[in-house]
Amino acid sequence: MGKFVVANWKMNKTIKEARAFIDEFNAKLPKKCKNWCICAPFTCVFAVFEGLKGAGAVGVQNIYPQEKGAFTGEVSPQMALDAGATWAIIGHSERRNLMGETDEFLAKKVKFALESGLKVIFCVGEKLEEHCRLKTVLKAELKALKGIDLSGVVIAYEPIWAIGTGRVASIEDIKRAHLAIIETIEKQNGVTPVVLYGGSVKSSNAGEIMALDEVGGVLVGGASLNADEFVKLIEIGGKYESK
Ligand code: PEP
Repeated sequence: MGKFVVANWKMNKTIKEARAFIDEFNAKLPKKCKNWCICAPFTCVFAVFEGLKGAGAVGVQNIYPQEKGAFTGEVSPQMALDAGATWAIIGHSERRNLMGETDEFLAKKVKFALESGLKVIFCVGEKLEEHCRLKTVLKAELKALKGIDLSGVVIAYEPIWAIGTGRVASIEDIKRAHLAIIETIEKQNGVTPVVLYGGSVKSSNAGEIMALDEVGGVLVGGASLNADEFVKLIEIGGKYESK
């Protein structure tokens, strides 16, 4: 089926731009490529869902852990599902750091998203100054997931210093971080997680990253905004067996 290649468009693309991307993407994506997902801004989710011809998935980049009510500006998992999303990114470092989302609040979101029927891409990763105590930081971020059934959850390792900077973690660091995540989740939750790498991935560096056994795929920001580049990444992921 190939490794899982996920686009995180962040706060980019109008509906018109999303439709233009999808037209090009549909035309270029080989039919056999199935293990991918596009996490679009809320305003574009339905247009992406409606336009996609391939067998991948659509996701959102955040949810609020309530079905409905007086939560101005928020979107529930039920609304995301209604618009065609089946995945939600939760815990992206931009939400942790810019919106002040805590480990406890993120765990609530994960639980509610899963109960509502969404699958989750849960992000963890260290700041540059925390790199020397990588394992401790990852363990602390993952602790919030204790007691949650993680069968519908993929973890994304995203070193914050590698996001949108052009700096990619070394192969050794990626292996070390992914093994630490796998070990922690196995001990804590009793399942072996799929772990994606994210941080300045593009088609020129994705091959050696996705060749690693410990890497179940990639979460891609900047490079996923270009349909041609995103198709290349999915094709690279397709060369490797997913677990
Ligand atoms: C991201 O935002 O999840 C990300 C990995 O971004 P970029 O690929 O641009 O570093």
